Amino acid sequence: MNDITYRLPQKRALVTELPGPRSQELTARRRASVAAGVGSSVPVYAADADGGVIVDVDGNSMVDLGAGIAVTSVGASDPAVVEAVREQVGHFTHTCFMVTPYEGYIAVAEKLAQLTPGDHEKRSVLFNSGAEAVENAIKVARLATGRDAVVAFDHAYHGRTNLTMALTAKTMPYKANFGPFAPEIYRMPMSYPYRDQPGLTGEQAALASIDRMEKQIGADAVAAIIIEPIQGEGGFIVPAPGFLPTLQTWARKNGVVFIADEVQTGFCRTGSWFASDDEGIVPDIITMAKGMAGGMPLSAITGRADLLDLVHAGGLGGTYGGNPVACAAALAAIETMTALDLSGRARHIESLAVPRLRALAEETSVIGDVRGRGAMLAIELVKPGTDTPDPVITKAIAAHALAEGVVLLTCGTYGNVIRLLPPLVISDELLDDAMTVLENTVRTLAAQ
Ligand SMILES: *Cc1c(COP(=O)(O)O)cnc(C)c1O
Repeated sequence: MNDITYRLPQKRALVTELPGPRSQELTARRRASVAAGVGSSVPVYAADADGGVIVDVDGNSMVDLGAGIAVTSVGASDPAVVEAVREQVGHFTHTCFMVTPYEGYIAVAEKLAQLTPGDHEKRSVLFNSGAEAVENAIKVARLATGRDAVVAFDHAYHGRTNLTMALTAKTMPYKANFGPFAPEIYRMPMSYPYRDQPGLTGEQAALASIDRMEKQIGADAVAAIIIEPIQGEGGFIVPAPGFLPTLQTWARKNGVVFIADEVQTGFCRTGSWFASDDEGIVPDIITMAKGMAGGMPLSAITGRADLLDLVHAGGLGGTYGGNPVACAAALAAIETMTALDLSGRARHIESLAVPRLRALAEETSVIGDVRGRGAMLAIELVKPGTDTPDPVITKAIAAHALAEGVVLLTCGTYGNVIRLLPPLVISDELLDDAMTVLENTVRTLAAQ
């Protein structure tokens, strides 16, 4: 892309082994001061980042295919975001919107009303993290319906707070020994085309979950259904066409609030502003965070005005929610997404990467499935000739790619998915280079 200017050279260049000596020093210091419960998938410490590269403290330039878990879609130092943040911190860093409000918060809410699916009357609330947005979406749904039960799905990931741990499916590492969990959460089967019985349509899969909800909970006891339109941590699972619309139709008919958790899929990642757009669904409430503010901590819920406005004054909020610096960053990041057509860019990334991943799956016998949309793409690794998950080769691929200077993330209930989440501003050349590293890594390890 010609219209992006980069501050750092967009090249992979290693000057030490990874992790280098300075990173190793920091790892030693960290052990003595940072709690062991905080993991890092890459033991290499960042010093600078721009476009598609992260430069580490030893001067190594790595290709970033993770974007800090789908956060830095506009890059980690987008000039527009940097300038907006500088301008705002020079005036005020905080007043608390619940004490002395400011315009930036309103401007973000106005933008969200425009960008999110549906042209109905909407209201928004801003928070700091994805989990906080999810918690608040559930608060609104329960208050609005006067019901308790919340339905989440197999493989779901919604966060690490108590309620969102309860909503999350996978025990290790997210839930194990952290209970007891929030009550009245029910888990339903997810449409998972690669592992479902062949030929099962999205509509059939949804009807099976609907039947269970009706039998096990009762339609009139369900406050909300919460679902990721494409599941993130659970393995980039794209439900079969028809699954989401069928669930939503049922929710609408039964007065159930339909919440799309677009914390990972939102803001151009899947090639549209929101993944709900691709499915033709209009959620009652949508949760957002990761791509929203160019790396600054900001999250939001946007939903039907008639639901959101039911909540009494003071019922929603938080000291830091909608921080003015984060709001300035979000407005600038959204400008960049529009100016550079990052949705189009995400589709372009898909068109470059998917044919290569499919060819790689043909050539080797360890890739069971290639899936995803836009710049949210994944390969699912399996034992050759089976659909048995292979988390060992998955880990090895990420480790080998890192040794070559490519940051790759894994995910999945079975830990056997490599996910590609590049910054949307990555150059074609850099993406091509990283894809070549990935291909060679998979070939080498598949042959062993
Ligand atoms: C990351 C994520 C969350 C949690 O966001 P945090 O900011 O880490 O609290 C919630 N839902 C989805 C779909 C996510 O990917």
